[in-house]
Amino acid sequence: MRQLITPSILLALAMLGTSGAAIGANCTVNLEGNDRMQFNLKEATVSASCDEITVNLKHTGNLPVAAMGHNVVIAKTPDVAGLSADAIKAGAANGYLPPGDPRTIAATEMIGGGQASSVRFPANDLKAGGDYTFFCSFPGHAGVMKGALKVTD
Ligand code: ZN
Repeated sequence: MRQLITPSILLALAMLGTSGAAIGANCTVNLEGNDRMQFNLKEATVSASCDEITVNLKHTGNLPVAAMGHNVVIAKTPDVAGLSADAIKAGAANGYLPPGDPRTIAATEMIGGGQASSVRFPANDLKAGGDYTFFCSFPGHAGVMKGALKVTD
């Protein structure tokens, strides 16, 4: 018995090792935005032990990007007010996000109804226990289209 069990434990440990520390961790956030300027989540949780975080955005409405554009921007909560103000200044040509702004930790494309967009970024851009917010940077949306991004170990 002992010789049968030991190899399986070793195999299990080896699988844990090769799959990284992300087993059971939240590495993906699935968000939906609609024509009523709402996200489906007010809060999301990810784990800093993931290799990468994936944020998926689906626009479930019908309105075009110019009228009801949505994206998902992740930033430190104290940066959100300044970043969303500068996003409006950046204008439609820049997808309502200042290009190369270091306050943007990650951002999806700005999309319209029926479209989807994703972004992946290294999980170590986030710190466990840090204060992060996800929001839409389309003009006038950040006030309601936002939520807390909680980061666990
Ligand atoms: Zn929006």
